[in-house]
Amino acid sequence: MKTTLHTDWTVGDICKGFIYDKNEGKGLFGLDGKLIIQPEYQRNYIYGDGKKDVAVVDSLLKGYPLGLIYFVLNSDGMYEVLDGQQRITSFARFVNQSWPFAVERNGKQRYFNSLDPDEKKKLVETELTIYVCEGEPSEIQEWFETINIAGVPLVKQELLNASYHGPFVTKARALFSNTGNSNMNRWQTYIKGDPKRQAILETALDWVSDGDIEDYMAKHRYDTSIDELKNHFDTVIDWIDSIFEYTGSEVCGLEWGRLYREYHTKAYSKDYVTKRVDELLTDTQITNKRGIFEYILGGEQDTTLLNVRVFDEKTKKAVYDRQTREAMEKEISNCPFCAIGHDNNAKRIYRLNEMDADHVTAWSRGGATDASNCQMLCKSHNRAKGNK
Ligand SMILES: [Zn+2]
Repeated sequence: MKTTLHTDWTVGDICKGFIYDKNEGKGLFGLDGKLIIQPEYQRNYIYGDGKKDVAVVDSLLKGYPLGLIYFVLNSDGMYEVLDGQQRITSFARFVNQSWPFAVERNGKQRYFNSLDPDEKKKLVETELTIYVCEGEPSEIQEWFETINIAGVPLVKQELLNASYHGPFVTKARALFSNTGNSNMNRWQTYIKGDPKRQAILETALDWVSDGDIEDYMAKHRYDTSIDELKNHFDTVIDWIDSIFEYTGSEVCGLEWGRLYREYHTKAYSKDYVTKRVDELLTDTQITNKRGIFEYILGGEQDTTLLNVRVFDEKTKKAVYDRQTREAMEKEISNCPFCAIGHDNNAKRIYRLNEMDADHVTAWSRGGATDASNCQMLCKSHNRAKGNK
């Protein structure tokens, strides 16, 4: 790979012909049509938050260095931004007034047009430090994966998108990483993370590949259709909607892909499920509300999903003291199950740390978590009861 240093291109040169495309969520061209600002293997533009974009322009106005920028020179004579697209898109949006924003100067908000003429001049005449790289696509690709973009490191899915760039990723990103997509709100009800940082795409790939994203991307890299990915994703989302009415924060980020695989062949009554979700959500004994959904899908068997409240130390000690006092008077074991047995333990008095607290009436049958429903059992009897 060959690299050449350019220090003669200015901010104004780069901004020539720049336009920000809101539909695609990226800056398009610069350098008077000779520069592709966001090649398909690049991440989405994520500096448009009113802070990082402002900081870029602020740095330039203060004369701070913007850091190194890397371009690739393609065989057709076009340049592509390899590293620096976030910074370039930010200052170009400001200078070209394409999705413009303001920066603070002497206590006032200023757009580019309202800057002092000398400030405008200083900004557009700032010379940038740009390395131009030439080489085989594979060399450049490998190198791209090893540079860690300053400030915001690439997340795993962004790296995978870069490694397996091609028609499949391009189409998949256009669908799943576009915040303008009208389905985005519905998807984000169930999926956590920033679509621009590829969270939705990553989830869609995770679901369709049953967890082996990289293998799936490798196999489909040159596919021109994303139908399988899209259909599986839509099916899972529709399946969730067909069972659960509830859309609160507890359903966001659950392992819906796995839940679909495990439970989609079972039938559910949406009315009944809705009623049970309401009841369980208001049950103060359940400390893991996010477990409710799988608990219901599994036929309300596995209470370990719910983290039902346990007895506190004070309650355990009080129940232990009472049970032990009564047992010693009757000369029987302080474990009520041992006491009715016929072996050596029938008269055994256990220490507190040899016993566990047990719900006399189980939570699932309406038992409370207070002293009135607490009994201390020896550890082996408690285990035996818990397994029933
Ligand atoms: Zn016992």
